[in-house]
Amino acid sequence: MPMRWGVFKMEPILTHNQLSIEKSRPGRRGVRFEWAQKPASAYVPQEYLRKTAPKLPELSEFETVRHFTRLSELNYCLDGEFYPLGSCTMKYNPKAYDALSALEGFTQMHPFAPESSVQGTLEMMYHFQELLKQVTGFAAFTLQPAAGAQGELTGILTARAYHDAHKDFNRTEVIVPDTAHGTNPATAHMAGYTVVNIPSAPDGCVDKEALQKALSDKTAVVMLTVPNTVGLFEKDIREIAQMVHKAGALFYLDGANFNALAGLVKPADLGADLMHLNVHKSFAAPHGGGGPGAGPVGAAAHVAPFLPKPIVEYKNGKYTLSGKMPKSLGKMKAFYGNIAVCLRGYCYLRQFDDSTFKEIAENAILNANYVRAALKGKFNAFFDRTCMHECVLSIRPAEMNGVHTSDIAKRLLDYGFYAPTIYFPLIVPEAMMVEPTETESKQMLDAFVAVMEKIYDEIQTEPQTVKDAPHSQCVARIDEVSAAREPNLRW
Ligand SMILES: *Cc1c(COP(=O)(O)O)cnc(C)c1O
Repeated sequence: MPMRWGVFKMEPILTHNQLSIEKSRPGRRGVRFEWAQKPASAYVPQEYLRKTAPKLPELSEFETVRHFTRLSELNYCLDGEFYPLGSCTMKYNPKAYDALSALEGFTQMHPFAPESSVQGTLEMMYHFQELLKQVTGFAAFTLQPAAGAQGELTGILTARAYHDAHKDFNRTEVIVPDTAHGTNPATAHMAGYTVVNIPSAPDGCVDKEALQKALSDKTAVVMLTVPNTVGLFEKDIREIAQMVHKAGALFYLDGANFNALAGLVKPADLGADLMHLNVHKSFAAPHGGGGPGAGPVGAAAHVAPFLPKPIVEYKNGKYTLSGKMPKSLGKMKAFYGNIAVCLRGYCYLRQFDDSTFKEIAENAILNANYVRAALKGKFNAFFDRTCMHECVLSIRPAEMNGVHTSDIAKRLLDYGFYAPTIYFPLIVPEAMMVEPTETESKQMLDAFVAVMEKIYDEIQTEPQTVKDAPHSQCVARIDEVSAAREPNLRW
């Protein structure tokens, strides 16, 4: 039989940015199964047959592979290059974890399957909860939240359930320092609380006087990002916890970037009542493009009964989902959360012990400080002190020569680097937030520093080159407002 694998007729040269539907030619196939050459009516009852053929691209296998390979190459990705996106922790995601989480026993599980048939998955979830308890010191964990921000919402609603159970109904405020991640005030607002912002002190940490003034019997929760968004660790965190508790409020920590703390400190020991972690940042699950993620929330013993249910328990030799949590706030997500993401986190926690986590955190901190120190004099840290896992840099305004941080970000693309997070945190003008992560080598950091220095010199000698960047990309500068407000999604 003549096979039609990759039949190419003479065609005008296909341009790289054609859509698959434009490359399509009637009758062209990737793979042909002889048994499927009979008309569909041989298998499907007449009433279910389509009247018109679906508008699907008809391509050879080769064309299809090239199409998707090209699309994948249009995307700058962590598997391709250095990605120092501050606050987002784009670090190495072991491919072995991907393989393990793709095991059929996990992927083919039905969420309504009887417990007796999914003991393996429940066992993994149970041990993941236990391992998270171990590294953080909390009494309980829920694995339900699908992202960091949903973890925050879970934490705030857990706090509300706690206050409600104590008939403490007048607490309507959530205090958020200006160095918090942006999702913190958004979460508090979404949960119906009034957000009370407090400024930071000149050293980049919480202004304790401002905190004391803001605290009252109306305060439900104080949310603190650790390390905070300028990459600094709150040095008086225990004292802050005491102040919060004295006011009858709960103390929430945003632990999205726990990779800078794991093995160094257990947040429960610092007096935190609740904390979420980002498995997709701190525990080596890949992320980007909006998901999927997992934002497990840990709770101290007095708040644990209010966490979402069910939680996995081990009883009489069996793993079981406990729905018996009368004080629970209920459910936060369909079924049990993004289990495939949790599975990667589980692998990560199983692979290492506390001393390795300490080393990982120390390397994250060392790498950030290496970049901070190496760029000093050209790009300076806004708060000139040792940072944690990320550093916030900017150029002295007088040396900017009309260039903006967004131009520097675009110029980096010409040199093959993804830009750091820019214009965040909001309290630092023209901010560039660099997070090298623990998984980058010294050679890579040196290459990044060299490129940053080169761009600094360009700003001094040929600023227009930087302002017109990128010069190497297929799309240079788009009208970002129109792209967001009036997207044209048709070809
Ligand atoms: C990323 C991040 C979040 C939000 O996490 P998502 O999973 O993106 O919702 C919250 N807080 C901090 C400090 C973060 O870095």
